[in-house]
Amino acid sequence: MTQTDTAFMYLAAMQKPDFHTICRFRSTHLGPIKEIFSQVVTFCKEMDMIGSSISIDGTKIKANASPRQSKSSDAIEKEIDKILKESIETDKYEDEIYGGSTPYQIPEELVDKKKRLEKIKAAKKQLDEEKLKKVNITDNDARIMKHKDGSKKPSYNCQVAVDEKEQIIVAAEVVNEENDLHQMEPMIQNVKNTLGCKPTIVLADAGYFSYENLEFLQEEGIDAYIPDNFYKAEKEGKTRKFRKALFKYDEEKDCFHCPAAFEIPFTRIQKRKGEPDLRFYVCSYCSQCVLKNACTMSEKRTITRDPREHLMKDMRTKLNTEKGTEKYQKRMSTVEPVFGQMKHDRGFREFLLRGKRKTGIEFVMMCTVHNIKKIADFIKREGKNLKGMLKMIVGGGSKGWNKGEFERE
Ligand code: SF4
Repeated sequence: MTQTDTAFMYLAAMQKPDFHTICRFRSTHLGPIKEIFSQVVTFCKEMDMIGSSISIDGTKIKANASPRQSKSSDAIEKEIDKILKESIETDKYEDEIYGGSTPYQIPEELVDKKKRLEKIKAAKKQLDEEKLKKVNITDNDARIMKHKDGSKKPSYNCQVAVDEKEQIIVAAEVVNEENDLHQMEPMIQNVKNTLGCKPTIVLADAGYFSYENLEFLQEEGIDAYIPDNFYKAEKEGKTRKFRKALFKYDEEKDCFHCPAAFEIPFTRIQKRKGEPDLRFYVCSYCSQCVLKNACTMSEKRTITRDPREHLMKDMRTKLNTEKGTEKYQKRMSTVEPVFGQMKHDRGFREFLLRGKRKTGIEFVMMCTVHNIKKIADFIKREGKNLKGMLKMIVGGGSKGWNKGEFERE
């Protein structure tokens, strides 16, 4: 396009980089690419395209690696043995042909084997160090993850924080942890780094629910809307057994009262690393109870109690209000379309680069493209003059950050 399209020729200042140059640039310039992402987000902020509420979510994108190359420790050791045996055979064959003299070049076959062996050994080292069940030989950083269609592929978990106002991605990160649970804190930090301020409202699905996350958001003074894993099923009455909410806690006696009106006493404590003790309450009347089939499959029903459970209770109460339901519903229409536009409209279903660092660059580039497209749509829709706006921002005549909507750090 830098040779045929006038607009691209102008933008590239008549330079004609070939695909190798572009590819090299893309895989080595994480810093500048992140900086461009930040500048585009700042521009959106100046254009008043960013509000106060963000939705955080993750999607799995397939790594540039075959699932067949994901191997266990045993399989890797077998392959190492096989390659070493084949190399010895090739060496013998070479000796027969060349005798004691050294050939000028190592045969190509042997060079390939050596490269493969190095890759496998690196993968084995990672597998042992990180205590993984399997590791992918082609892309050691990728992990087998379950996709929405049920398939399992070597993939990365791509996290985004999307602003509600114009679906601008304000933070993006690639991680190789399948679960979203530990991504809340880094993503909020990421948002702060890009915007220079924290959001006032955060929406996320049950994958982000943990007492640690709720406590963190509370400390940050962020109004969070995150349901727990059983919230939806319990609200829709889809739980097969008596849900925990039906067991009333008696603070004075430190016991629960079950639906059959029996008292369930405290029995033991489970110590947990880095978390408060978990308290167990076990019922002794289940064997004689007429409601047992609806309550438990076990001999005795056990109820656990975490001292932070009031956080879940408060969250459920908040989500059940009209305002809470309305706010949480916004999550779907904010972040889900962004993944749809990336995957369906732009065909971003698989990474072209390998390794966590390089896939991180590729993803940030995709997010920058997404934001630029949103700016173009916004200018068209609002009938704004881009040239005038750029002049205003570059000349320092902008009206500044959205101080009223975002709390400055
Ligand atoms: S099964 Fe046990 S815990 Fe459940 S309702 Fe009956 S007595 Fe209560």
